[in-house]
Amino acid sequence: MMKKTVLAAILLSCIPALALAQDYRPGVAAHRGASAYLPEHTLEAKAMAYAMGVDYIEQDLVLTKDDVLVVLHDHSLETTTDVAKKFPGRNRADGSYYAIDFTLAEIKSLIVTERFDAKTGEAVFKGRFPVSFDIDYRVPTFEEELQQVQGLNKATGNDIGIYVEVKEPAFHDREGKPIMKAVIDMLTKYGYNKKDSNCILQIFDYPAVKQSRELGWVGPLAMLVDGDGQLLTDDKDVHKFLLTPEGIKEVSQVADIYAPWFGHLAEAKADGSGYTIPEERIKAVRDTGMKLHSWTYRADALPKGFKSEDEVMDFLFKTIKVDGMFSDHADHLIVYLKKNGLRD
Ligand code: CA
Repeated sequence: MMKKTVLAAILLSCIPALALAQDYRPGVAAHRGASAYLPEHTLEAKAMAYAMGVDYIEQDLVLTKDDVLVVLHDHSLETTTDVAKKFPGRNRADGSYYAIDFTLAEIKSLIVTERFDAKTGEAVFKGRFPVSFDIDYRVPTFEEELQQVQGLNKATGNDIGIYVEVKEPAFHDREGKPIMKAVIDMLTKYGYNKKDSNCILQIFDYPAVKQSRELGWVGPLAMLVDGDGQLLTDDKDVHKFLLTPEGIKEVSQVADIYAPWFGHLAEAKADGSGYTIPEERIKAVRDTGMKLHSWTYRADALPKGFKSEDEVMDFLFKTIKVDGMFSDHADHLIVYLKKNGLRD
């Protein structure tokens, strides 16, 4: 009896420590699906990501000419599909085939493949899935992807989340296509517009981040931050501000998650000999209470200043303790986190 009491006392004394250790459980987001293994943003790549046991699967969204949300990373089609071959001459003056200039039926007629350089035809990531138009991969609509995730959740009993990026909202507005409203309406239709939603809305465009609240988005909201800002709207100065403690404090008035590019958390030294940590920036994020997420870890393209996978992961999950990380290789993150007791 005595022994049992002592044992119970010892066990009880361990509980706070155990509870504390379990408090930190970083989230893993499959960047464009299992994009290191199958052509990005295909339903096949999303099914594979789901089976890896990630927390979130990412969607990038643009609108078609006939106002349908499709899952596509670029605003244009020529780096992941055979659009140049099927629709010659349908490019704009800058040479790009804008998705917004094509109907859903036209986009659905395209074959999707591994990302390639549109000029040379060479794969961007040499060791990944081959560039080939022989397999019938297609661009999914947002709705198809939502139904696949929810269908898998129903069939497996799991509850895997989505991490939705609205691409270039200012550009869409200029083209007369209010994409923010379209995305929020669709998320509401599928039951995601709730405070504790298993869906994070992520946007690079700061005015659009603020607008999402005005449009009624009450779920988790992430401000994406990068020194270069958006591609089709010059907002470099806005992003420079968002990297400062003042900018971070301002963002926290509207966003729940601060999500800078990895290089803004580990600044590579010019001579390639390592990196420095912008402590002031990280402290500013922590002071606001926002979660810190970052992007994108690729095992076949390590960030500058790092020599190995473990060095990157130790930095992310032991040194600065990010709350969430995007990766093409989500499975690598999961293996590391399990090995280090940060995931069941
Ligand atoms: Ca994205």
